[in-house]
Amino acid sequence: MNNKVTIFENVTVITMNKDKDIIENGVVAFQGNKIIYVGNSDCKESLFKENKYEIEVIDGEDGILMPGMINCHTHASMVPFRSLADDCKDRLKRYLFPLEQRLVNEKLTYIGAKYAVAEMLLGGVTTFCDMYYFEDEVAKATKELNMRGILCETIVNFPSPDSKEAFGGLNYSVDFIEKWRNDALITPGIAPHAPYTNTDESLKEAYNISKKYNVPITMHVAEMDYELKEYVEKYNLTPVEYLNKLGVLDSNFIAAHTILVNDDDIKILKENGVGVSHNIGANAKGAKGVAPIIKMKKEGINVGLGTDGPMSGNTLDILTQMSQVGKVHKLFNNDRTLLPSIELVEMGTIGGAKVLGIDKEIGSIEVGKKADLTLIETKSVNMQPIYDYYAAIVYSANAGNVDLVVVDGKVVVKNKKLLSGNFLEIRKSLLNLQDKINKVAREL
Ligand SMILES: [Zn+2]
Repeated sequence: MNNKVTIFENVTVITMNKDKDIIENGVVAFQGNKIIYVGNSDCKESLFKENKYEIEVIDGEDGILMPGMINCHTHASMVPFRSLADDCKDRLKRYLFPLEQRLVNEKLTYIGAKYAVAEMLLGGVTTFCDMYYFEDEVAKATKELNMRGILCETIVNFPSPDSKEAFGGLNYSVDFIEKWRNDALITPGIAPHAPYTNTDESLKEAYNISKKYNVPITMHVAEMDYELKEYVEKYNLTPVEYLNKLGVLDSNFIAAHTILVNDDDIKILKENGVGVSHNIGANAKGAKGVAPIIKMKKEGINVGLGTDGPMSGNTLDILTQMSQVGKVHKLFNNDRTLLPSIELVEMGTIGGAKVLGIDKEIGSIEVGKKADLTLIETKSVNMQPIYDYYAAIVYSANAGNVDLVVVDGKVVVKNKKLLSGNFLEIRKSLLNLQDKINKVAREL
């Protein structure tokens, strides 16, 4: 048994446990990948006086220690395309799909994922849910940098970068799930891209694979206006009703976006235990609308936060999302009391863990849970004063305030520097792709 114990001192602990305890001048200790103590400094001496542990103390310097944040929906490997065609009307079909067809291969997927994982860790995100091609490369990059990933291979009705055949992702998924399903950090899953890029058969097949292996299934749902129009015209059903009729919704299902949903759809999502990833930054930038998450939360649906791909939302950190979610919903509903900061922090941590079905293991700072922790420093000019810790996290902090990050008991970021990989090399590999991407984009 590993007898090394790491202790955080001089921190305010935002536990996000059931009672939402905040512990000022708190202490958190972890051994191996598990949290073994959460309390205040008075308790520390008695707990560790036996002196049987090899103790490493981390001085939090009055920072805020919170659960590692959770990004419930992204396409990490799209990072090489960030800031390209941002203001273009039909960016997805005009640029993204053709760029992917021509440029995405194993190498780009790996390099993009590695950069995105580094960026997420540096921003305090410790778990992400990904949908892309060549997920095996994403898994390698994630594992190398010691991040937690729910990684889901994309299924589409056209030949994709990793398959000459339409729906090739179905076969890929089976091999991918078999390979990674017992990994400590990687949870493999399956990702039919959207209802409109799949068929009844491919959706049912993807669902059956998810059921057989008991792994997550994630999909873009009710995101596009043309999607809603097509399903209403063709079947007289909303996309959510259509998926329900097919029988593919259950508690393993993670619905991304769910912007164009009505009250009946919300009931269906609730009845089937579907979790929702709310991706406000990308939705706002794409002028797609505001998902009715206030209603969803009232109905008891689990709602987490997602960035969407870095070509859609441009950022990968959850602090940015928390702030945007609060501001957009207050403005949209003309009510500044909506979504108080505590609820926004909840969606970015334990709420996200519930959406991904891993809330028994992560999402809060509690004894027995995995040590996934984010320390936000409070020395920078933008962080003071603090009257309300949740408001400071949501509206004062940004990703640049993330000082130290622990994933699965391993310190991966310290003093704002990546420890689990060489960031300069990771960046160099990314920038080496740029000339070729530029050349192809100009031809589109
Ligand atoms: Zn997406």
